[in-house]
Amino acid sequence: MPRGLRAQLSLLIALIVLLTVLLVSALSNVLIGRQYERHVLKQEVLKAEAIADNISRQYDALSQKWDESFIHGLGMYSLYDGYIIKVADADGRLVWDAENHDMAACSQVMMDIIERMDARRPSLSGEFAAHTYELTSNGRLIGSVEVSYYGPYFLSESDLRFLDTLNAILAAVGALALAAAVLAGWVLARRVARPIVKAAKIARRIADGDYAIRFDGRTKTREADELADALNHLADALDRQERLRRRLVTDIAHELRTPVSAISSHLEIMLEGVWEPTTERLQSVYDEIGRLGVLVSDLGRLAQAEGENFRLQKSDADLLALARSVADGLETEAQKKNIALVVKGATSVLSADKDRIGQVVANLISNAIKYTPEGGQVRVSVRDSAEAGVISVEDNGIGLQEAELPLVFERFYRTDVSRNRKTGGVGIGLTIAKSIVTAHGGTVTAESEFGKGSNFTVRLPK
Ligand code: ADP
Repeated sequence: MPRGLRAQLSLLIALIVLLTVLLVSALSNVLIGRQYERHVLKQEVLKAEAIADNISRQYDALSQKWDESFIHGLGMYSLYDGYIIKVADADGRLVWDAENHDMAACSQVMMDIIERMDARRPSLSGEFAAHTYELTSNGRLIGSVEVSYYGPYFLSESDLRFLDTLNAILAAVGALALAAAVLAGWVLARRVARPIVKAAKIARRIADGDYAIRFDGRTKTREADELADALNHLADALDRQERLRRRLVTDIAHELRTPVSAISSHLEIMLEGVWEPTTERLQSVYDEIGRLGVLVSDLGRLAQAEGENFRLQKSDADLLALARSVADGLETEAQKKNIALVVKGATSVLSADKDRIGQVVANLISNAIKYTPEGGQVRVSVRDSAEAGVISVEDNGIGLQEAELPLVFERFYRTDVSRNRKTGGVGIGLTIAKSIVTAHGGTVTAESEFGKGSNFTVRLPK
């Protein structure tokens, strides 16, 4: 069972942040801790040296006496700091000794430190060690001081409080970042997931045949907007196809009804013996069957042009010569309507399937004749360039409305005008033409001014 996008995204972001927070906390903790310990270690040595230096200044060389009360103060002060000192003069006689002075306080301080360090830094396994410093005055040895402190280093209460506070801050920042990440992940996932869920619902409705549905409104994500546009486009296309399909069924039924009913009523009357089956009557039945044949073959050609096995048989073809020969074949049709059919232009040779391009040109010219009233004009012109050959068929007939221009290439599309006039086929001539031109890598476009005429242009690349 795949998990939802929202859950996955939130979980992933939370996980990444958790890992980052843990890593940053651990690293900073270790780094800051180590740096701090190094600092403490240095401080300790400096402090011991400072004590020694301080004591050496309490010797009065003239009277050869120590300022014992000062040394006492310093000793007690240092003791509570964790430094136990013992001062002796140059002859080794004891001047001041913390342990002698306050044994209980000394062992209390030592125990406190050992306990604290054992609890907080058990791996350190430190101990108290004595460090002896010589005391000098004006270059003369005046005694020595033994400073005992816990090594390699020790942390005072305030040091520990500082480190604890640091850790607490890191933990709080981490928890805050984690909460923010979960929230951000949730919001982001919602933003991404919502349009996807909506799109899926709409796609399902489209699949169920609801082509009127659309993805309304914009999302805040570009890709989601593209998905919405694609869905709307899909629904549009399906809607159009569905309408065309319905119209196709109506059209085919309509096209079939007239010849079929004529044939059946004629045959019925003849079978009942009311009519003699004369040659003329049989001929009219035969003509109707011929019309049915044209319709069926039109449908067949469309299926072929749109089918998968559509193969072009290319050879060098001259568009101008091709246009001339197609126009010759349609001359009688043009003459019937007293239409002037002219072909002009330049030679343009390119690699194309002559039969199929001939079919395209024939369709365009016969449409032009069909949709141009008596006495009109149809001009076919061929232009040549380095990259392409262009052939256009222009008439001064009924024309097309602007909105119909892109539709005339659709399967079974016929304008209302042509439908009412009951001229022409079923509206697949231009569809086939477009398939053929597209297979050649070319384009076919229509321009028109309603009531004034149309111009269909085919551009074939060389
Ligand atoms: P048909 O077989 O009905 O002619 P086409 O696919 O060739 O089908 O054309 C589709 C529709 O485009 C026609 O029914 C007609 O309404 C319109 N049409 C095509 N050519 C022209 C033209 N030269 N002038 C006006 N309308 C045209």
